[in-house]
Amino acid sequence: MSRYSIFSLARNAVDYHRDWSAAWRSPEPKSEYEVVIVGAGGHGLATAYYLAKEHGIRDVAVIDKGWLGGGNTGRNTTIIRSNYLWDESAAIYEKALQLYEGLSQDLNYNIMLSQRGVINLAHNLGDMRELNRRVNAIRLNGIDSEILTPAQIKAMVPILDISPTARYPVMGASLQRRGGVARHDAVAWGYARAADALGVDIIQNCEVTGLRRSRGRITAVETSRGTIKAKKVGLVAAGHSSVLAAMADVRLPIESYPLQALVSEPLKPLIDVVLMSNAVHVYISQSDKGELVVGAGIDPYISYTQRGGLHIVEEQLAAAIALCPSISRVRMMRQWGGIVDVCPDASPIVGKTPVAGLFINAGWGTGGFKAIPGSGWAFAHTIARDEPHPINAPFSLDRFVTGALVDEHGAAAVAH
Ligand SMILES: Cc1cc2nc3c(=O)[nH]c(=O)nc-3n(C[C@H](O)[C@H](O)[C@H](O)COP(=O)(O)OP(=O)(O)OC[C@H]3O[C@@H](n4cnc5c(N)ncnc54)[C@H](O)[C@@H]3O)c2cc1C
Repeated sequence: MSRYSIFSLARNAVDYHRDWSAAWRSPEPKSEYEVVIVGAGGHGLATAYYLAKEHGIRDVAVIDKGWLGGGNTGRNTTIIRSNYLWDESAAIYEKALQLYEGLSQDLNYNIMLSQRGVINLAHNLGDMRELNRRVNAIRLNGIDSEILTPAQIKAMVPILDISPTARYPVMGASLQRRGGVARHDAVAWGYARAADALGVDIIQNCEVTGLRRSRGRITAVETSRGTIKAKKVGLVAAGHSSVLAAMADVRLPIESYPLQALVSEPLKPLIDVVLMSNAVHVYISQSDKGELVVGAGIDPYISYTQRGGLHIVEEQLAAAIALCPSISRVRMMRQWGGIVDVCPDASPIVGKTPVAGLFINAGWGTGGFKAIPGSGWAFAHTIARDEPHPINAPFSLDRFVTGALVDEHGAAAVAH
């Protein structure tokens, strides 16, 4: 891998940028690998990278039915934070945030991390009590979190209506200053390039159609480009986790819903934080291009269509305008959807399955982008050592049998 630097940029500028090498190879699949990862989203690519980097396992293929980063990793609204309520969640999301903080240097790829702060609004006394409880719990875990008064919020977000007559009066907010955004494609591309450099084969346009087993152990994946044998297989196929798991007769407690987002026409700098309201189910940030990036709750119906219903968009824009009336005449330019896999406790599954050698990383719902580095790091450990790391042990599949759930339904401005 040729390193990116100011010198390589200058060298290539002299040659009119004709000599940049491809960021990753496009190899033909081999007949056998030590580990096959299904799904070249952020989680799958990060897993492969840490398998190679941390555990020396380089005989790895990452297989995707489409192009790498073309799933939810390339469709999300890029919010990163670690202000989760429960200790179990705090550990894995904070590990992810810490890795994000050094990721551009680690991968030698600018992921455009912008720790601009994430604000969660409170609109009534109930919201305020809940935020106070959360902020205290989060701080007890050593994670930065603070309460803001309406005046402090207004100073940070001048477009927010904090008048007493506002449709949703603002009583306060929580703030995680280390939260923010990163460029989602760059996260996928950075991991892909670094994993490829360590010898990982990334195989695009290759759909997994079956999972072969023998005596309770995984032996191979069947794909649209032939059968590939593997000692271990990791399923990391958000949006289709249950479809993939069913190929090995594993039933997951997951439901799949569309989640939409949309962006406006580019505007001059207007808002330099991520503004969220759990109560009215909308969140707003501004991209480097100047677009307002607006997200909302999941569609209420289970579906595999990557679109979503128009009424959700209407409701989220009504809420956005109620919070920030000055954006009422801004035109929205693009809308899209992804399919998010949601567990009953709104926490992920990262661990082993009843099939020996078959591992699963799924159920991140509406909030898995922020977890990519921590999840990949812990999942790689689980696959390499055949046992979970302490930070992903609480997210085992059998918690739905033991009842040790990690209820994070209140963690996001998007109702899971
Ligand atoms: C609109 C929207 C907004 C969001 N906003 C945020 C946010 O602001 N912050 C946040 O933290 N999270 C957010 N999320 C959630 C986040 O995007 C996901 O949790 C995360 O990207 C999941 O990553 P992944 O690598 O697991 O899955 P993906 O990136 O979806 O990758 C899974 C891959 O599996 C592949 N695949 C599926 N089936 C097969 C098969 N049979 N064979 C081979 N390959 C297969 C797919 O092609 C896909 O590339 C949002 C999601 C959406 C949809």
